[in-house]
Amino acid sequence: MISKITVRAPSSTANLGPGFDTFGLAIDAFYDEVTLTKTKKGITIVTDDNIPTNPENNTAGLVVKNMKKKLKIKSGVEIQIKKGIPAGFGMGSSAGSAAATAVAFDKLFKIKLSSNELVEFAGFGEKASAGTIHYDNVAASVLGGFVIVKTNPLNVISIDAPTNLRMCVAVPKIDVPKKKTKVSRGVIPKNIKLTDAILNLSNASAIVAGFMNKDSELIGNSIKDVIVEPARQHMIPGYEKVKQNALKAGAYGVTISGAGPSVIAFSKNSFDLKKISSAMTRGFKSKNIDCQTIICKPSKGAIHQKK
Ligand code: ADP
Repeated sequence: MISKITVRAPSSTANLGPGFDTFGLAIDAFYDEVTLTKTKKGITIVTDDNIPTNPENNTAGLVVKNMKKKLKIKSGVEIQIKKGIPAGFGMGSSAGSAAATAVAFDKLFKIKLSSNELVEFAGFGEKASAGTIHYDNVAASVLGGFVIVKTNPLNVISIDAPTNLRMCVAVPKIDVPKKKTKVSRGVIPKNIKLTDAILNLSNASAIVAGFMNKDSELIGNSIKDVIVEPARQHMIPGYEKVKQNALKAGAYGVTISGAGPSVIAFSKNSFDLKKISSAMTRGFKSKNIDCQTIICKPSKGAIHQKK
């Protein structure tokens, strides 16, 4: 009988510009590792990282609590979390733990849930970080590649990314508010102009076509958002400079990764990606901010680690 399972889940970038709360892409920049062990009773969280250990406030804890209840599992569970994805920077950190946990729970108790069910359980965990359920990051982290999230009923469409697609991510070394996603959702306009909706819809549609046709240039140059990005960019010091620098250095498109403050530039493997990364670093430097840059590519989803 299995009593312990370890699953590794990738970081992810949500929105990809115009696909707010709809698009997600798993990226191989960072990984979280979650080990679930059956115990006599209750839910305990063990971690050396600076994240909540109360199951109610931890995305992994909330996933286990909900899965135990809905799937009528009596056993207790210990959740060991090794964070690789920095928390609070828009790289899908809270989602990475939730995704790994849902996949591990399914394997540990041999439930064999469908992809949509796994994403639904993982998405519930996001309540602990964002205050609301949202599926874009968890869907990418569970399934890998590019995902489109349809809700009511939940249906996640997953598309393999072009093999030459590359991203440069700049993670600024700034303090982020504790409930950053909640805060940055608060600045989004409640009403939008039809002309803006049309622009975002056309770019979002072109991004989907880009993934279908494995056309990294079409994906990159459709990463344009006239609704959410303008409302949020003031929360990232130096954002405009980072973006303009990356575009001048050859990136096809640049946007905020998820709710930020990381900035992500889209390109392809034949380009000078180091040049794009240094251009982004200089952009943050103009505001005296250091950043970590990572050149990355799309990742596979959450995978069981045989130990
Ligand atoms: P991210 O884009 O990195 O997920 P969020 O601001 O949405 O950023 O989530 C980070 C917040 O979620 C932090 O306040 C963190 O304490 C909280 N959190 C709860 N559980 C976890 C977890 N397992 N991993 C990372 N962050 C978590």
